[in-house]
Amino acid sequence: MKEKFTVLLGIDVETDVGSFTPFYEGVRNGVPLLLDLLAGFGVKGTFYFTGDAARQNSGIARFTVKSGNEIGYHSLYHETVGDELFPIPGEKPLLPHEVEPRLKIAADWIFEACGVRPVSFRAPRLWGGTPVVNALEKLGYVSDASYPMYFHRKRFVPYYPSRNNWLDEGDGAVLEIPNFADMTMESKDAPLERDRDPWPAFRTEGADVEELKKLIGGLFRLGGEFKTAMEIAADFAGGSFIQSPFKNE
Ligand SMILES: [Zn+2]
Repeated sequence: MKEKFTVLLGIDVETDVGSFTPFYEGVRNGVPLLLDLLAGFGVKGTFYFTGDAARQNSGIARFTVKSGNEIGYHSLYHETVGDELFPIPGEKPLLPHEVEPRLKIAADWIFEACGVRPVSFRAPRLWGGTPVVNALEKLGYVSDASYPMYFHRKRFVPYYPSRNNWLDEGDGAVLEIPNFADMTMESKDAPLERDRDPWPAFRTEGADVEELKKLIGGLFRLGGEFKTAMEIAADFAGGSFIQSPFKNE
């Protein structure tokens, strides 16, 4: 018998090449293709928009919500909200007291763009942190998919983080969902081991639609059940969460 397992497809929706260009070609041309692809398989994922991506591409944000996928949230301008894992020239992490107000503004921008409030978050570059999960809890979020498995290598299943150290288990109310990394491969990138994480390869080698079809089809055949981050958080909480519906439709 196949063993069932849960798959979260998390898609970050931001400027092309992360923080390093002002362009939204990927959002405008790529997101509709991804929505079609997921619809073809009858699966849903979580699309983590930056506040700016939603504000500048409100049609795409609304289209994403209408498709039944979850609209999550990915900071205001793709800034470093949590712990810096390695330095990037010109990028300084937010100060802890800046985190909550900026998260709030970005959530407001997403609401203005598409009429729903996000309840799921992922930190740019997977650089989460304790002030981040605490701010998310205050703002009513239910999940955070920021834990970089490739880097910390301790958590492989979702957990509720400590309010004193997000890497430990504790009483926090925001479910932390670790990001997959291939822990079986031999890394050639010591000590960071970024090559275990799939997204740099999507960026440097491309994310061909046929390859994505093979990936999703393969996960199906292995027994994968596709859920959004919000649905996974609801499973853990033993209830259900909803995003507020459109106001004007
Ligand atoms: Zn990102």
